Amino acid sequence: TSSAAAAAPLGVAAQATQLLQSLGVPLDQVQVPGGWPVRSPLTGELLGQVALQAADSVGAVVDQAQRAFLAWREVPAPRRGELVRLLGEELRAAKTLLGQLVTLEVGKSPSEGEGEVQEMIDICDFAVGLSRQLHGLTLATERAQHRMMETWHPLGVCGVISAFNFPVAVWSWNAALALVCGDPVVWKPSEKTPLTALATHAIAQRALARFGDAPEGLLSLLIGERDAGAALVDDPRVPLVSATGSTAMGRAVAPKLAARFARALLELGGNNAAIVAPSADLDLALRGIAFAAMGTAGQRCTTLRRLLVHESIYDTLVPRLVRAYASVGVGDPREPGHLVGPLIDEAAWNAMQQALAAARAEGGTVHGGERVLTAAGPAAWYARPALVEMPAHTGPVLHETFAPILYVLRYQTLDEAIALNNAVGAGLSSSIFTLDLREAERFVSATGSDCGIANVNIGPSGAEIGGAFGGEKETGGGREAGSDSWKAYMRRATNTINYSTELPLAQGVKFDL
Ligand code: NAD
Repeated sequence: TSSAAAAAPLGVAAQATQLLQSLGVPLDQVQVPGGWPVRSPLTGELLGQVALQAADSVGAVVDQAQRAFLAWREVPAPRRGELVRLLGEELRAAKTLLGQLVTLEVGKSPSEGEGEVQEMIDICDFAVGLSRQLHGLTLATERAQHRMMETWHPLGVCGVISAFNFPVAVWSWNAALALVCGDPVVWKPSEKTPLTALATHAIAQRALARFGDAPEGLLSLLIGERDAGAALVDDPRVPLVSATGSTAMGRAVAPKLAARFARALLELGGNNAAIVAPSADLDLALRGIAFAAMGTAGQRCTTLRRLLVHESIYDTLVPRLVRAYASVGVGDPREPGHLVGPLIDEAAWNAMQQALAAARAEGGTVHGGERVLTAAGPAAWYARPALVEMPAHTGPVLHETFAPILYVLRYQTLDEAIALNNAVGAGLSSSIFTLDLREAERFVSATGSDCGIANVNIGPSGAEIGGAFGGEKETGGGREAGSDSWKAYMRRATNTINYSTELPLAQGVKFDL
């Protein structure tokens, strides 16, 4: 009957269209005949088709952003903060809808989709406060009747390249800070997630309209493939590129930025470990490990990928984990009971299977990891998370595979566990579960974890915006969001002012004409 038809749930494509319309994205931007296809990992269905911008169109976008810079740098920082306050308001109003669109485009659970938008709101709040605190130091000078100080000035156009797995939050971490610091932003989102980018751009346009007199080109969006990102990296008018993605991407981007002396803010791959010590609260550790390793289907840069368990508790903890892996609900995360959603695409599934085969070849025992076919059929790629008991820290354990695989190893001494924690290329996140104060302090000390994030009694995944986020070594060294990360978006000038009638030179140098 027609009433039954009206009550039938919408398919993901119709839902996405409705959400995009409600968020203010013109449908002709997302229904481009013959355009780049965007699929939902929930079902494999087509959500829309977008026009890709060619690399040679990037110059014109940067041109306009550069003109916007010349005007925006003169706007007082607290007034710039007002724009970010309005952006936060618009994001609050759009939170549910944008969160749902993140779920459709990336396959995150509804609470993680909304959580990502909450993170955008949080960084806006942080940046608004910061807009009145972009302060430099006044420094002691050796010369009488002189003053020495440092001033922070806007830097210029900030290029942002982002990854699929945090399709909207990464832009906001950069944009909220860049805007208050006086920098326009040109954003090249992942080619896997253009719809949430278009929606975010529409939300930002509303904030700009309410603000009133922001220069044209202050926030721009480049929907394109990696060649568009590369054009942004090569443009000499872009003094800072903040690039989030794989270490392979960072290896391509970093030398190009270095060659033209531009700043690189790199947020690259992680291969994060957790140590479970003999004194650990095992109930708490189990929950922390389960979320960190299986949440977001293992597709977070901070996902727990290596678990180092003290030999005295291995046979207690690991069988419990194996049971948790066997029973966790895998499927469409919009349905209750499904904590593990889909992989982003078939390539991610293939990479997962290759890593599991390599682990078996190294003597690993694999629990789980098989494909889960849902009602959505074979075009969606769901996998049961894999727990792999490894005899040694070798092979695929050494590299990030962007899928839910947790390698488990035994250790005997804390020194050995810390050495293993640090024995990979990446240096993003890490944690220890222990109730022993000495072990906890050692882990976060200079001789402990070498990662940008080191936690105690919580897993390595996830972060709050108040802290600086990022990692060392092959993670790229960048820091975003909280603490003093704003300094990356500004240039520092040291000023010496002489209010005497003399001209004393520093270090007592004489130059008497
Ligand atoms: P990816 O490297 O495939 O792509 C990321 C972005 O870089 C995309 O926008 C892509 O178009 C662009 N890109 C790729 N090669 C480029 C090049 N040569 N020049 C310019 N741009 C280029 O990554 P992905 O699959 O989208 O995301 C997953 C990866 O991102 C994982 O390795 C994950 O750990 C990492 N990640 C890191 C963080 C972090 O904060 N450290 C956060 C999220 C994701």
